[in-house]
Amino acid sequence: MKIGIPREIKEGETRVALIPAMVGELVKVDFQVLVENGAGSRAYFSDQEYQDAGAQIVADATSLYQQADVILKVQPPMFNEVLKAHELDLMRDGVTLIGFLSPTTNRELVERFLAKKITAFSMELMPRVTRAQGIDALTSMSTVAGYKAVLLATQYLGKFFPLLMTAAGTIPPATVLIIGAGVAGLQAIATAKRLGARVEAFDTRPAVKEQIESLGARFVEMELPKEAEAAGGYAREMSPEFIKKEMEAIGSRLPKSDVVISTALVFGKKPPLLITEEMVKTMREGSVIIDLAAEQGGNCELTQPGKVVQKYGVTICGPLNLPASMPVHASQMYSRNITNLVKHLYQAKDRQLDFSDEITRGCCVCRNGELVSEIVKSAFSRGG
Ligand code: NAD
Repeated sequence: MKIGIPREIKEGETRVALIPAMVGELVKVDFQVLVENGAGSRAYFSDQEYQDAGAQIVADATSLYQQADVILKVQPPMFNEVLKAHELDLMRDGVTLIGFLSPTTNRELVERFLAKKITAFSMELMPRVTRAQGIDALTSMSTVAGYKAVLLATQYLGKFFPLLMTAAGTIPPATVLIIGAGVAGLQAIATAKRLGARVEAFDTRPAVKEQIESLGARFVEMELPKEAEAAGGYAREMSPEFIKKEMEAIGSRLPKSDVVISTALVFGKKPPLLITEEMVKTMREGSVIIDLAAEQGGNCELTQPGKVVQKYGVTICGPLNLPASMPVHASQMYSRNITNLVKHLYQAKDRQLDFSDEITRGCCVCRNGELVSEIVKSAFSRGG
């Protein structure tokens, strides 16, 4: 079975789906790995390293897509401006495609998968169960984003993060407020603490209080309804009354915060609006908001996805695709996740996919022209 690794063509994408260190793992279990010329170059992995690891370098995307049985990607397939063809049209009918495919928000693409009888597995649909931890690429990428969000804040804040006692005077530590302490939020807390900031954080799931405190941050106390946490530790969408109270609690902290990093999200929903324009006005000039929920609309009313804006003296960043700003480790983590998934999917001797398995079924969008994901079906029925 031939696994193909194309060069990503989305503007700004620097990651590659498989790094040379993982090629050997797939070759060992009898896969043949084909890599498009230069696929890893923006993540600093050379063709030579891929070849040394046992991969075959293929001259261009057209021949890669014509040969591959299984295609590993980072971004969803898109129109290739150089070849004047959609990546999907370059693939053979009936191939298997694995990547971040954004199926719930991309109906047209899913319809094209169905027409070509592509079996598609989307990393976003990976069930968050213990068995799938090593495959959970959303977690890996949020880890990168949480870390990088803090570094981005240091870039725009005209202040030190740590307490400094110098001959030129004492500088107090920066105060950082993190809203939402899931994967990205917890990594942001850890990173801001390592840099010496005074950190407080809030989440609607009571269970994260302990995690926030174990990282040395202060948990912002608020009365939380029991039903805030759903089965499996997932967050639930909160009532408008609760969000109003939460906004008051956040509002009381904003004038004292140098940096706010917002990551609040309930899976499958639009991120809650937690910081209004009026609330931004109360912040000190020079403060910074990093809104990690920017891509889905943002937690702050003034966020513009992909832009850095200044309003009322406050810098508001809505970064998109932060993992691409750390291509080496982001590719390494993604590559480990996708390798684990490939090995999981094709573990049977005859390489048949087992759709009775929770992970295989959970992340499958469609197979043989049939839409199988309940999550995607329900997103489409809501008009996604
Ligand atoms: P996650 O599900 O692990 O964490 C989200 C957290 O928000 C959960 O802990 C949840 O309980 C909490 N939450 C939900 N509603 C809340 C509310 N009203 N108030 C406070 N907390 C609330 O998600 P994650 O993987 O950490 O991702 C967080 C955000 O970062 C998402 O919007 C995600 O899309 C984004 N992200 C952005 C980038 C980027 O490059 N910009 C990369 C990765 C992730």
